[in-house]
Amino acid sequence: MLEKVVIANRGEIALRILRACRELGIKTVAAYSEADREQKHVFLADESVCIGPAASIDSYLNIPAVISAAEVTDAVAIHPGYGFLSENADFAERVVQSGFIFIGPRAETIRIMGDKVSAIAAMKEAGVPCVPGSDGPISENSDNVFEIARDIGYPVIIKASGGGGGRGMRVVNSEAALKNAISLTKSEAAATFGNDVVYLEKFLQHPRHIEIQVLADEHGNVIHLGERDCSMQRRHQKIIEEAPAPGITEEIRNTIGACCVEACRRIEYRNAGTFEFLYENDRFYFIEMNTRIQVEHPVTELVTGVDIVKEQLRIANGDELTYKQEDIQIRGHAIECRINAEDPETFMPSPGTIEHYHPPGGPGVRVDTHVYQGYKVPPHYDSMIGKLIVHGENRDLALRRMSIALSEIIIDGIKTNIPLHQKLVTNAAFMAGGTDIHYLEDELGLK
Ligand code: ADP
Repeated sequence: MLEKVVIANRGEIALRILRACRELGIKTVAAYSEADREQKHVFLADESVCIGPAASIDSYLNIPAVISAAEVTDAVAIHPGYGFLSENADFAERVVQSGFIFIGPRAETIRIMGDKVSAIAAMKEAGVPCVPGSDGPISENSDNVFEIARDIGYPVIIKASGGGGGRGMRVVNSEAALKNAISLTKSEAAATFGNDVVYLEKFLQHPRHIEIQVLADEHGNVIHLGERDCSMQRRHQKIIEEAPAPGITEEIRNTIGACCVEACRRIEYRNAGTFEFLYENDRFYFIEMNTRIQVEHPVTELVTGVDIVKEQLRIANGDELTYKQEDIQIRGHAIECRINAEDPETFMPSPGTIEHYHPPGGPGVRVDTHVYQGYKVPPHYDSMIGKLIVHGENRDLALRRMSIALSEIIIDGIKTNIPLHQKLVTNAAFMAGGTDIHYLEDELGLK
């Protein structure tokens, strides 16, 4: 097994990786910023290396600093977690060039999937259903773009190929607005992402967000772990995720799962990954692939019993997957609420010291968090401070457990979005299942 791994991340995912390493007998190195000296995983790691100041650009995004943390500690591999450098192909490449193992796919795969136009082209070729669209870049000066949009039918959406984080997209409702929308999105994309390539897709009006988790080893074995429904979103940020997705039958799961597995074989995918789809009128439309562990991976772990992070470590070590497809059974239902340090009404971040902390517990309750009483939530990073995940034999029980667990948690001293979660998990439409990606913003008036 890998001897020593650098955890190039912070917060709950750093702790999650540390725990997986410990179970496998792998030594850990916490690479942390000056603002994160008091992080739980820094205390627990075998070694720790400060990689720079609080600002992530100087620490968690500083490629030479992260790589030197591996060099000075004689580590063999680097786990990037999610966010930060996790989907940076140049980082993955430099990790390997420096003689370390990057715990994730090959740099080349990250590069292809990081560019939406090339990702869609690769997926189409591999037989994955995509949103009807322009089949590549468009420009405001070409005539055929009007034809393409007319054929697809309005509304359409112009998207930046280099976009991410829900930015770089513009919905167009009529032909009259098309030309202008393309040039605007192009210039915004150039300014924001340093890449002005844009493409066009049909704008789906009431889709759900359903994604498929995959695992692939270096020996050509690929499996899928079923789907997650992540339709509860605000500004394209997921807030609640669940597995399985309401209404997705085993037959549908197996069909789309097999399609993703086949695509992984074709692109020689390696390690953990997620195919994200919009799902409307019983059809899947690929939107992007995430080439890393995701925040919402625990719901899949709870319904399949697979420890995805441990599989990532084993795959990176060159082992074969522990499971075959037929070993994977979906049992019961799991729901995750992302707990953010923010005002539940204005969504303004709420950093500060946690005065009192009492986690919930009981059967089927899992808390993934790095916080503790006295911990100071720094203002420099994402506001997510943990995840509450519950499992039950069916969705009703999972919902009830979540509601009870939310009522038990005490986090004092800072504001959190727990009151919002309490409202959501007792909301009639959400309880019925299958709400679309606009539900949270539209129906509940949360913009
Ligand atoms: P990003 O990389 O910025 O997250 P995605 O391509 O994953 O971009 O899209 C983010 C979100 O934008 C989707 O979850 C969905 O809410 C919306 N979206 C993207 N493409 C479409 C589309 N064709 N129709 C409707 N909504 C879309």
